[in-house]
Amino acid sequence: MRKITHNIVGSSTSSGGRTSPIYDPNNGVIQAEVELGDAAVLQQAVDAALAAQPAWAATNPQRRARIMFKFKELVEANMEELAHMLSAEHGKVIADSRGDVQRGLEVIEFCCGIPHILKGEYTQGAGPGIDVYSMRQPLGIGAGITPFNFPAMIPMWMFGPAIATGNAFILKPSERDPSVPVRLTELMLEAGLPEGILQCVHGDKEMVDAILDHPAIGGVSFVGSSDIAHYVYNRGVAAGKRVQAMGGAKNHAIIMPDADLDQVVNDLSGAAFGSAGERCMALPVVVPVSNETADKLREKLIPAIDALRVGISTDDEAHYGPVVTEAHKQKVEGWIQKGVDEGAELVVDGRGFTLQGHEKGFFIGPSLFDHVTPDMESYKEEIFGPVLQMVRADNFEEALALPSQHQYGNGVAIFTRNGNAAREFAARVNVGMVGINVPIPVPVAYHSFGGWKRSAFGDTNQHGMEGVKFWTKVKTITQRWPDGSADGAQGNAFVIPTMG
Ligand code: NAD
Repeated sequence: MRKITHNIVGSSTSSGGRTSPIYDPNNGVIQAEVELGDAAVLQQAVDAALAAQPAWAATNPQRRARIMFKFKELVEANMEELAHMLSAEHGKVIADSRGDVQRGLEVIEFCCGIPHILKGEYTQGAGPGIDVYSMRQPLGIGAGITPFNFPAMIPMWMFGPAIATGNAFILKPSERDPSVPVRLTELMLEAGLPEGILQCVHGDKEMVDAILDHPAIGGVSFVGSSDIAHYVYNRGVAAGKRVQAMGGAKNHAIIMPDADLDQVVNDLSGAAFGSAGERCMALPVVVPVSNETADKLREKLIPAIDALRVGISTDDEAHYGPVVTEAHKQKVEGWIQKGVDEGAELVVDGRGFTLQGHEKGFFIGPSLFDHVTPDMESYKEEIFGPVLQMVRADNFEEALALPSQHQYGNGVAIFTRNGNAAREFAARVNVGMVGINVPIPVPVAYHSFGGWKRSAFGDTNQHGMEGVKFWTKVKTITQRWPDGSADGAQGNAFVIPTMG
C-alpha cells in the first residue's frame, strides 16, 4: 500500500502510527494511506521553521519573488501530473482539476509582485524634524488547515502570501486528498525555497489541536466546514493567535423575470452540478422571481439536467465525476431523502445512480427539487452535492431576503438585464461575494475571497492585499534625528505630544 508521509525539513518523513485511507472515488478501492501525525511531528516542523525563518525574512523581497516565479514555471511544467493526481483522489474531472491548480497559481502570480506590495508608508515632516514610516513584518510561523475540495488552490491561497511576506509555513491538508499538497511542497523546494520554510504535515483533529495550541505559531488560516471553522477560530484565538476561518456555504442564484433564461440554465448547470456540487461557491439554491419565471425555468432546466453526463474523473466528456467518499455520498443522499420527507417536490432524483464497470464508485446523479421553503432543514443546511433546490419568490424583496437571512453568507448571484435591480441587490444583500450575471463569483487573485456570517470567522479575507495583511504585522516608526537644540521637537516632555 502506497504511504503518504509528511514533508518536514525538506524531505519525506514517516511518523509511523495511525493512518487514514485514501480512496479512488471512481471505483471505491483504497489506493493509499496517509500518516496521521501528532504534536511530536508538529514539533519537528516547528523546530525547522524556527531555524529557517529569520534568514528567509531577511532575504530581500526580490529574491523571495524569484522563487515564486520559478515555482510558477515548475507548476506549469507539471500541470498534467498535478491535475491527474488531484482528480484521482478528489474525483473532479481533469479539466476542472487543471482549473483548481490554475486558480491557486494565480495567487502565486500575485505574490511575484511582493517587492512592490510590501513597500510601506512614509510621511516626511509629520512634526518638526519628525518623520513617520511603517513596515509590514512577517508573523514568524504561519499554519494552514485546508479542506478536501480544492487541494491545490486553497493551499496556494495561503502559503503563497505567507511565504512571500517572509513567514515559514506549515500546511496541514485534508487527509482525504493529500498528494497534491505534498507535491506542491516538493516543487517549492525544487524552486529554491530553503528547507523549513514550507512543510507539510498530515493529520486529523489531533494535529489540528496541536497546531492551534502551539505557542510558536503566530497565525492560522483555516478553510472547511462551519462548525469546525468556529471551533478552530475560538481555540486559536484563545491561544493568542491571529486566526481566519472560512466555513460552509449555501449560495443562492436570484433569477429576475427579465433574465436571459438560456444563459441562466447554462450557468446554473455548471455552478450547481460542476465538481459534483462540492464547491463552496457552488449555486445549490435557485430563486426565480414570480411563478411564471419559475415555471419557464423549470421547463428548461429539466432537459438540461437530463443531458448531464456523470462519468469517471478521467472521462473527457463527463460534466462531473464521483463525490469524494462513500460516507459523503450517503450524507448527500440522506439530505435528498430529508427534502422529500419535508415536503419538497423531487423533480429529478439522482439517487441510485450507477456507472457500468464502476459500480462501487461514489457516483450520484443530479437532483432537482422544486417548492423548497425556507423553514426546511434541507434548505438551511449545506448539502455539498449535485442537488439544486428551487425556492420560489413572489418579488425582488422576498428574493433579496432569502440569502440575506440565511445562516451562510459566502456567495450569491443575480441574473437580470436591469442594471438598477442589480445595483440595488449588490448594495443591500447580506453576503460577502456577489455575482451579477456571473454564476461563481470567486474574485480574481489580486482581489480577495471571503464570505460573511457563518461562512467566515475572523475579519480578514484570503489572498490579495487582505492575505498580505493577514500574514504580516504593521510596525510604525516615528523618528527624529538630533538637530542640536536642547528641547528637541516634542516641547514639554510631560505632556502627550500632539501635532496641533
Ligand atoms: P472539514 O471541515 O471536514 O475539514 C477541513 C479541515 O479540518 C481538514 O483539514 C480536516 O482534517 C480538519 N478537521 C476535520 N475534522 C476536524 C475536527 N473535528 N477538529 C479539527 N480539525 C478537523 O471540511 P471538508 O469536508 O474537507 O471541506 C468541505 C467544507 O469546506 C464545506 O463545508 C465547504 O463549504 C467548505 N469550504 C469553504 C470554503 C470557503 O472559503 N468558505 C472553501 C472551500 C470549502
